[in-house]
Amino acid sequence: MANILVYALHYDGAINKNSLGAVSEGAKLAAELGGEAHAILLGENVPQDLAASLGKYGAKKVLVAEGPEGLAQPLVDAMAAAISAGGYSYALFGGGLLGFEIGAGLAARLNAGVVMEVTAVRAEGGELIAARPIIGRLNAFEIKESGDADAPVEQLSFELSPHASQATMITRGEQRGADVDIEGADVLIAGGRGLGKAEGFELAEELAKAFGGNSAVAATRAVVDAGWYPYAAQIGQTGKTVAPKLYLAAGISGAIQHKVGMQASENIVAINKDANAPIFEFSDLGIVGDLNKILPKLTEAVKAKKGS
Ligand code: FAD
Repeated sequence: MANILVYALHYDGAINKNSLGAVSEGAKLAAELGGEAHAILLGENVPQDLAASLGKYGAKKVLVAEGPEGLAQPLVDAMAAAISAGGYSYALFGGGLLGFEIGAGLAARLNAGVVMEVTAVRAEGGELIAARPIIGRLNAFEIKESGDADAPVEQLSFELSPHASQATMITRGEQRGADVDIEGADVLIAGGRGLGKAEGFELAEELAKAFGGNSAVAATRAVVDAGWYPYAAQIGQTGKTVAPKLYLAAGISGAIQHKVGMQASENIVAINKDANAPIFEFSDLGIVGDLNKILPKLTEAVKAKKGS
């Protein structure tokens, strides 16, 4: 019997969607291993009903630990205490940088193995086997409701290591565009380094606004890394996979890691000043030119067509 401990990130009174997917997946895998999935939440005054609600996603028990939330080190302490107390063979995290940090810390603390950027996990011969592609998508575990009762909630007592309180959370918030539903959009205006600076994204946002309805702005990793646009909008190997009706790539070179996230789009239109840019090899329509001139004209044309 192997139980699985799943970390559930919560913010503003709600459990993060990736964590709900991880709890659902943990419940399925634990059942296949003949064990149980338990969830763990850490925070100051975590609401009891929020913790218990994880029962709906298959958690058989929820451990609540009191401590500073949103930081990796206190979670390493709490999860290590729970795992050391016995009964867990695996810990599971939804996709996200915090999970990477906690997973690495926990592996070091417990002398355990760790696998990251996993896209699928299966139970085989009483063990879990994780798949990690070299090129592919980092997808979240699917959220599934598998139970109808609240899970029993237990308070976990653990000691914070002195170094766990060295970093403190100053503020927590959402970045611009973080709440946009990129995967559900019909029209995506994607911007790359060719936009020149963070403010360059206004051109993409204006065009998306002109299309109206179900349209949104997406980005490459280069611009996300530069801090020009939020990670939630990143398309590609280490971002999201999309297949909108129209994918308009502005100032994007078309690197393989970007291509894997958008190649299934129905229509791909690319604007690039370099006629040899790789993106033109898989575009339905390619426009060679300066996006600073083309995007505003396109926005005007779309507005005129829509009569707005
Ligand atoms: P660039 O490659 O710099 O391209 C900018 C383009 O803009 C150029 O083609 C240029 O000709 C054009 N341009 C410049 N000025 C103008 C102008 N005025 N008008 C028109 N065109 C102009 N990338 C992702 O996108 N998503 C991922 O998930 C991802 N994951 C990665 C994972 C790994 C392990 C690695 C190693 C890389 C990953 N990358 C990813 C990075 C990827 O390799 C590229 O570096 C990135 O996609 C390039 O972004 P870009 O097209 O915005 O920038």
